[in-house]
Amino acid sequence: RPTIIWFRNDLRLADNPALARAASSRRPLIALHVLDDCYLGGATRWWLHHSLAKLGERLAGHGVPLILRRGPAREEVISLALETRAANVFWNRRYDPHGIAADSDLKEKLRAAGLVVESFNSNLITEPWEVKTSSGGPFRVFTPFWKALRAHYVPAKPISEPSTLEGSTASIPSLRLEDMDLLPRKPDWANGLRGTWCPGEAGARDRLQRFLADGFAQYADCRDFPAAGATSMLSPHLRFGEISPRRIWHAASLAAARRDIPEGNLDKFLSELAWREFSYHLLFHNPDLPRENFQRKFDAFPWANNEAAFRAWTKGRTGYPIVDAGMRELWQTGTMHNRVRMIAASFLIKHLLVDWRKGAEWFRDTLVDADIASNSASWQWVAGSGADAAPYFRIFNPVLQGEKFDPDGSYTRRFVPELAGLPDRYLFRPFEAPESVLAKAGVTLGKTYPSPIVDHGLARDRALQAFQTLSAAA
Ligand code: FAD
Repeated sequence: RPTIIWFRNDLRLADNPALARAASSRRPLIALHVLDDCYLGGATRWWLHHSLAKLGERLAGHGVPLILRRGPAREEVISLALETRAANVFWNRRYDPHGIAADSDLKEKLRAAGLVVESFNSNLITEPWEVKTSSGGPFRVFTPFWKALRAHYVPAKPISEPSTLEGSTASIPSLRLEDMDLLPRKPDWANGLRGTWCPGEAGARDRLQRFLADGFAQYADCRDFPAAGATSMLSPHLRFGEISPRRIWHAASLAAARRDIPEGNLDKFLSELAWREFSYHLLFHNPDLPRENFQRKFDAFPWANNEAAFRAWTKGRTGYPIVDAGMRELWQTGTMHNRVRMIAASFLIKHLLVDWRKGAEWFRDTLVDADIASNSASWQWVAGSGADAAPYFRIFNPVLQGEKFDPDGSYTRRFVPELAGLPDRYLFRPFEAPESVLAKAGVTLGKTYPSPIVDHGLARDRALQAFQTLSAAA
């Protein structure tokens, strides 16, 4: 009787506790993936296709076929277990509310049918219920969460890939990867994604090695500068579990100890990984996080939800170059640098008064790392409605943010090439440039590049007034 190893957001062979357990069962293995992730958008579907292709190749190399099915997962896992008379089903845990409910129910049903079912932690450094405040409750603020994590929870050492796996020889019906319909058809918008990313376990390891060799030594100083290339770009690999946070944690700690990495870089980098943990901690303890304001007073916020303004934002045509650069980076490559995500999200919420949930939904569809915990927690952080949030009244000035974080303009010129000829002085404020300067750079506002869709000063006042209505109502 076989063992089923059910792959979900853990598409790797190394440091995969459920796979290691399955290998140690000494039974023929059936590897399974069921398409039923409710948080998938266009970009993550593209990623999943390629990641499954790589996982399938690696498993086939061990003689284990990867069986593909379409959800609901509960029904598919049960029917496969019954069809094959499986003895065991193993998986690594997920933490989104839909996943938790489905998995608990499935566990019960499979156990009732006499199967051994075990689940493991593979995608977080610690389980969200393990980290507790001194009074035993969940954290709401990042800094004490991070201090507790750093002090008390040393992640276990990553485990190696099983050296041998034995696949089941039974003939088991499976969809072909192409039948899962994960890739864009017409138009095929994925060219920029193909040029930017290499999904899969080998791509993840390669990305980690490159980061440790290049960006790591200047991470603390340069991570906020989108042109610096100082961040790891590991987020989509983490999203699909092609690499474990434990492996990243240990590899970074080892590299810092062995090499001359200036102090502060390791801590800063690990603290960013801890933001991911914190987001899962928040989601686990507040399953409504993707839908509901964490601070309920924001339920009364007078959103303007102007559809034309929202569309201009999605297309990178707001007339604010740093915002437009970010939104176009997102569209072209499936990612956006973290600093620019904060600027673009803040612009949507505060300058355009569009509900953060609309922005989060756009990111869900377009980011290759779109992750229910990090995306929801980050949007709520920017909106000011979150657990540990930027105060609503702190409103980014998109001109000053551009000048500060893209000082030589190379990031913005790359993604907004129609402004490339403007001198640095006007790059982030083309609407203040004299006609002669615009003409020399070949820019005609309103034609080759949009005029600002809102005036910063007026938008700022409007946002503060909107916020006042909440304080008055409270
Ligand atoms: P690095 O700087 O190299 O950081 C290492 C890892 O730490 C990242 O890969 C990521 O897993 C984690 N991390 C870093 N910053 C954060 C953070 N602020 N919150 C949570 N985890 C973090 N991240 C996602 O993974 N998925 C999302 O859907 C997502 N949506 C976001 C939406 C908004 C509005 C904002 C402001 C941020 C969002 N982030 C999201 C967080 C962050 O922008 C990305 O994790 C980061 O840009 C990924 O780049 P990197 O891998 O080079 O990061």
